[in-house]
Amino acid sequence: MVYCKSCGKEMGEDAEFCPGCGARQNVHELELATWGERFLAFIIDAILVGMVAGIIRPVYWWPHHTPFIDLGVNNVLLFLYWAYLEGTQGQSLGKKVMRIRVVDLRGGAIDMSRSLYQAVGKAFLLPLDVIIGLLMYGDRQQRLFNYLSGTVVVKE
Ligand SMILES: [Zn+2]
Repeated sequence: MVYCKSCGKEMGEDAEFCPGCGARQNVHELELATWGERFLAFIIDAILVGMVAGIIRPVYWWPHHTPFIDLGVNNVLLFLYWAYLEGTQGQSLGKKVMRIRVVDLRGGAIDMSRSLYQAVGKAFLLPLDVIIGLLMYGDRQQRLFNYLSGTVVVKE
């Protein structure tokens, strides 16, 4: 549960303004990471996990011919990798290098359930996740699954 930083009233975690006292909450004060920083972190993660996937691929293979949906071994490994590291530390190795972090809308650490949720989009549905995010949630620079899981990516 989330509480107003001014008056302490309970409120929805997405609320921009407190329903009790009207105080603006701090979501816009977070210093958001740029899409460029996030893209570079993604590339680092994809290369690292891709190297591991290359070792595992001979014994595991998933046909992936569905547009926009990718269930290859890289995707499964990336999902586990992101969900675990970002759920426990807030950062994948790529994010650590880029000095950016996944947080909730108040800037706090995310738990594992949020991390699992936010990782689904970028691991399996990346094009849709990003395109819908750019179109709909650009003010907070959220992927669709950032929006759904109540997370943003910020600079450290
Ligand atoms: Zn308030």
